[in-house]
Amino acid sequence: MAYQYDPENIFAKILRGEIPNQTVLETEHSLAFRDIHPQAPVHVLVIPKGAYVCYDHFAQAASDAEIVDFNRAIGEVCKREGLEAGGFRLISNAGEAGVQEVPHLHVHILAGRPLGRMLQKA
Ligand code: AMP
Repeated sequence: MAYQYDPENIFAKILRGEIPNQTVLETEHSLAFRDIHPQAPVHVLVIPKGAYVCYDHFAQAASDAEIVDFNRAIGEVCKREGLEAGGFRLISNAGEAGVQEVPHLHVHILAGRPLGRMLQKA
């Protein structure tokens, strides 16, 4: 399946500076900012600056430099937020089954309280 990227999604608008965000980290290829509706005391979203819909799209189509930058950005946010001691969870929702709301790849970094089991029944 060829992914179609919608340039009007809300994270594309954040990347263009059209709407504000609470930036945690910006790198050459990635941006990390606080989720507007946090589900845990720490809830940061990490996104690539490139036009990728979801994780597999990115993993298949992004350059090595983008992929390294994105993963390093996740590591750097975990470090800056002090998550090593208490632990954390990474989530990246994709498509309908994943209940993805914003069609621009993002990894949720969640921490700061016990997060429960990985999945609950829908
Ligand atoms: P998902 O369901 O994985 O697509 O998650 C999308 C996330 O984006 C949700 O957790 C929203 O709270 C978050 N979100 C939506 N709009 C904004 C925004 N303007 N700034 C920060 N986070 C946002």
